[in-house]
Amino acid sequence: MHTDREACYRAVKSRDRRFDGRFITAVHTTGIYCRPSCPARTPALANVSFLPTAAAAQAAGFRACKRCLPDATPVIRSGISLPMSQGGRCV
Ligand SMILES: [Zn+2]
Repeated sequence: MHTDREACYRAVKSRDRRFDGRFITAVHTTGIYCRPSCPARTPALANVSFLPTAAAAQAAGFRACKRCLPDATPVIRSGISLPMSQGGRCV
């Protein structure tokens, strides 16, 4: 039933960076949310919720962890071109 939850928890326990940006761990005992690779001690599975985005965690009343900065998770952007880097010089 909760295989997704267990898979998420495994990722958090192993601090697997590949899951950064894929989900957010909200810790009920502390009221903060973390990215999967957070260096802080992994809370008990009963005390965490897994949310799809940092925004969802914020909406649920959690605050961003200061150690792993889940709001700063790099989002892979594609198709963004910077005009200055294409031949033009900004002096
Ligand atoms: Zn954290």
